[in-house]
Amino acid sequence: MARLRGGLHYPRSVGEFQAWFGTDSDCLDYLEWLRWPGGFTCPSCGYAGGWRLGDGRYECVGCHGRTSVTAGTIFDRTRTPLTVWFTACWLFATAKDGISALSLQRSLEIGSYQTAWAMLGRLRSVLVRPGRELLAGTVEVDETYIGGEEPGLRGGRARGKKVLTGIAVEVREPKGIGRCRMVLLADGSSASLHPFVTGHVEPAATVITDAWMGYHGLAGLGYVHQRRSQRAARARGEDPGELLPAVHRVASLAKRWLLSTHQGSVEEAHLQSYLDEFVFRFNRRRSRSRGLVFYRLLELAAGHDPVRYRNIVAGKRPRKIPPTPPATRGHPPSLERPPAERPWRGADLGHSG
Ligand SMILES: [Zn+2]
Repeated sequence: MARLRGGLHYPRSVGEFQAWFGTDSDCLDYLEWLRWPGGFTCPSCGYAGGWRLGDGRYECVGCHGRTSVTAGTIFDRTRTPLTVWFTACWLFATAKDGISALSLQRSLEIGSYQTAWAMLGRLRSVLVRPGRELLAGTVEVDETYIGGEEPGLRGGRARGKKVLTGIAVEVREPKGIGRCRMVLLADGSSASLHPFVTGHVEPAATVITDAWMGYHGLAGLGYVHQRRSQRAARARGEDPGELLPAVHRVASLAKRWLLSTHQGSVEEAHLQSYLDEFVFRFNRRRSRSRGLVFYRLLELAAGHDPVRYRNIVAGKRPRKIPPTPPATRGHPPSLERPPAERPWRGADLGHSG
């Protein structure tokens, strides 16, 4: 695949982003280019070739089915204009710590908190690419409790439920951290931990864990298993809390992010998708361009099955943390920018001639 180039494949700066995506049809064209780089291919029958209809949809030459570029993607059947979606994607991909639903709602003048919340939910739902690469080399694996801090009623903070989370982090030589994975676990048994390791770490990798018995048997699954005992560390005068420094570093960054960007207000039903977002951003923290991260996000979004609001909600309504302004529900205004009219040219500065 050709090397992606800033300024050609993806915008390099916010200025370039704004210049490229001034109208909804510019956004649609970019999605079309991402989804069908070699021209229209029918999603129903696979035939390559079709007519573009007046309304922007395509009719397949093979089966005469009609479809749009957004059909089958997270942008399907949304009343949110694409300029708003693209700006949300840009903020999501380029902000160092992402963006909360409240900030998104405010900065894009989205009518309801739920709409902004559901947009971010749809974006999170595409971040785990099917068939993504497994971690390799030397990998620290541990499990820790995440979540649990939730704003309670009457201004206090209620103790919510913490969820056991598996963390795997690549360790680089001589030092440094590579990619990570974070997945909610049912419990700390080997029945939960073994599939976590085999699902995220390449066979033959070196896996470093503590001495917990849930990790027994990893050598039999094809890994080089190094076990670090807390007791031995203590005996050597080392801090047993620093037994697995890479996972502890990643876990504390993730916890801090949940508490800062999202004020810790993540329910258990949605915690995995927030961890997916953390992992997506963490693994691209050294990307040479934030615009490239934006490209990767849209690439995932354009190729993904549609996600309906009810899938994101998972049986629960999002909590209305901020008050929703009355009578502003509905789809957000487009961020389309007409060519500037330079009104200042018609203004009289009052010079007397
Ligand atoms: Zn077809």
